[in-house]
Amino acid sequence: MAGDWLLMGMEDLQRFASHELATDSSLFVDLEARHLAMAETGRSSLSALLSQIRSRKSYILGGPALHIFVVSLRCHHTCSYCQVSRQETTATTFDMAGSHAEQAVERLYRVDW
Ligand code: SF4
Repeated sequence: MAGDWLLMGMEDLQRFASHELATDSSLFVDLEARHLAMAETGRSSLSALLSQIRSRKSYILGGPALHIFVVSLRCHHTCSYCQVSRQETTATTFDMAGSHAEQAVERLYRVDW
């Protein structure tokens, strides 16, 4: 629920899924630490998991913290790490339309997320 994960071998997964994994094994302890397993429901608390979910999903209430506007794909560089579909500097059809840029800025400053 909070996005935690753990890699394990198929045999361990099968033992875990069939409730044959010892609760005092290091793997089970790792699973518990990631909120993927719970040995004793009577003693366990969900507060740590809920706190983690609340932190990770806080952006939902706060709105986006980062905006990136790609206003053009035209570029005259050839960076080896480039991950965009770089276009020739004369390819103006790859520029953001002015009306779209205005809408993007209006959206950026909206306060009613
Ligand atoms: S990363 Fe790509 S788009 Fe950015 S400057 Fe380099 S070549 Fe141009």
